[in-house]
Amino acid sequence: MTTFRECSCVVAGCVAAASVVAQQPSPTRYDEQVVVSVTPRGIADIAFMESISGDRWTCGPGGPAGEADYRIGTGQVRELQNRGIPFRIFIDDVQALIDRERADMNDPFRPRGLWDSFPTYAATSAYVDSLVATYPEMVTRISLGTSLQGREIFGFRMTSPVPPIGNAARKPVVVIQSLQHAREWIGLTSALYTATQLLANYQTDPAVRQALDTYEMVFIPIVNPDGYEITWTSDRYWRKNAHTITPPPRIVGVDLNRNWSVGWGLNSGSSNSYSSETYRGTAAFSEPETKAVRNYLQSIPKLAAFIDVHTYAGLILRPWAYQWQTPPGYPGLTRVGQAMSAKVKAGTNVTYAVGGPEILYLASGVAPDWAYGTTGAVSFTIEMHNDYGGFSPGPETIAPSGYECQLAITGLLQNLCRADFNLDNVVDDADFTSFVGAYNALLSNAGDLTGDGMTDDSDFSLFVNAYDRRTCP
Ligand SMILES: [Zn+2]
Repeated sequence: MTTFRECSCVVAGCVAAASVVAQQPSPTRYDEQVVVSVTPRGIADIAFMESISGDRWTCGPGGPAGEADYRIGTGQVRELQNRGIPFRIFIDDVQALIDRERADMNDPFRPRGLWDSFPTYAATSAYVDSLVATYPEMVTRISLGTSLQGREIFGFRMTSPVPPIGNAARKPVVVIQSLQHAREWIGLTSALYTATQLLANYQTDPAVRQALDTYEMVFIPIVNPDGYEITWTSDRYWRKNAHTITPPPRIVGVDLNRNWSVGWGLNSGSSNSYSSETYRGTAAFSEPETKAVRNYLQSIPKLAAFIDVHTYAGLILRPWAYQWQTPPGYPGLTRVGQAMSAKVKAGTNVTYAVGGPEILYLASGVAPDWAYGTTGAVSFTIEMHNDYGGFSPGPETIAPSGYECQLAITGLLQNLCRADFNLDNVVDDADFTSFVGAYNALLSNAGDLTGDGMTDDSDFSLFVNAYDRRTCP
């Protein structure tokens, strides 16, 4: 049947229609659609691509390969040729890619191992329960709230039986969330793979043991359950949540990763038009999903790090995403990001570029900017690398992508334990100054490690003692 998605239509109408899901029984089709990797010669090429596509699939100009991927109608390819825009066809038939993915998943002869298929929402929930059953001492299921359509936003806490240092009620927490963007399936599996490997390796790998003895990890695998359901039932490449407008009722969706309050509302990096793929909503935290996750993050006494997993680009992005200006603590963030990237490179030979908006594009109202700006936690977006099939990379990439994520997170955990806060290779008073200064600059109370209401020498002692007995690579 004909749907909005089939538009080989004129520019503005196509952009508007492409993001509105009609209430329909049969899935949205992507016939006569291709994904092109464009190497823009300048701002005019970018503006042209944005005007004809409205659905950028990956990183913007200036990315690692200098390419940006856009979904366009086959009829529009000639326009690129006519304008002399350098491009290559990345995916020559988007609908065929979806069909292949579906056939692959339904193939009765394909392997049925843990990492051989993408889990549905229900399967992910069941998998979390199985982790709790397998590791009752280390894993606890949590519930953060419900989505617009009433689905549970669940997660799990993961730590070792070793108690927190001092009188702290809870270890410093590292949060890893995925699937704010519904179609980014490999982000979900990469996060689950990472959690699974850390649990499996706790007994045998000293670095993992040290990490889980030091930190509690929280995984929120499906931040956007309604959107994820849409990608399984009605539109494989749905990105936003299920925000609905009336009359008549129709799902337009809010981009959850444009709905956080730090940097919210800027037209550079988000849109106030509900037909846009980056529609930010009517206010910061207008959506139940972002509100639920924010409330949970705010309940954590000490958030040490926050990671938001996306696909696809092969990038580790530090704050800020909403402005070109670098944040306080920028050198430390960069150093940690580079350590994460180096770990991935050493283990897989895959390159993850590290940086800020200059290697992607401005994005305002994103989760890591909120986490860094309001809590001071070391915060990154990881854009999983994938050269294979856009948002449908094939189940055979689940394990390799998962391993890349595992290495990046291991690199993060190993480097968070550095007491060498100012990165001069000595742990001394200068670290304290730098430590307090960075957090004060963020207007947070995170320097108060002892929780006595003051940031003072006792915090420094705790800071040094806590980290001194840990060996950093
Ligand atoms: Zn994303």
